[in-house]
Amino acid sequence: MKKSPQERKLERLLRSSKFSASGFMGNDRRNLWEIIDEDASEIMRAGKTMEEIAQRMRQITDTAKKGLGDWVHVSKTIKASVDDNRGTIPCPWPHHIRSLKRITTVQHIPTETIIRWSELNIHLIEEHGFFEGRGSAFRIEPSILVDILFPDE
Ligand SMILES: [Zn+2]
Repeated sequence: MKKSPQERKLERLLRSSKFSASGFMGNDRRNLWEIIDEDASEIMRAGKTMEEIAQRMRQITDTAKKGLGDWVHVSKTIKASVDDNRGTIPCPWPHHIRSLKRITTVQHIPTETIIRWSELNIHLIEEHGFFEGRGSAFRIEPSILVDILFPDE
């Protein structure tokens, strides 16, 4: 399918380092729509929706905020800390949304896997189904995220 000028512009923005050092696409060779499609299938296979994932991420951030930068045990398998980075970052999609730069770091206690997200990641997942490209600093692998967020399922 031919891309519209808006889509081309968006992809250029996502590949640039205007918003974050490695850009949102990292070194991923797939185009934006391929990345979004593949991640959406992964989430569907896991039986989840973007809304459920975003909601759980937000709950974890909200609980961890109380630690004021220290680890908070969110559940039996998760501890998290929130770094209160001031300032906001714009969503690259053309709708004038800004997100806090706040970073949540999550440790999956049984495997010691660490993942992290910014408020913008939550927005990008919820509104745009975008987990960022491979190699970008804030790419979150959907399968790993789902395993950590929903450990009992
Ligand atoms: Zn947006």
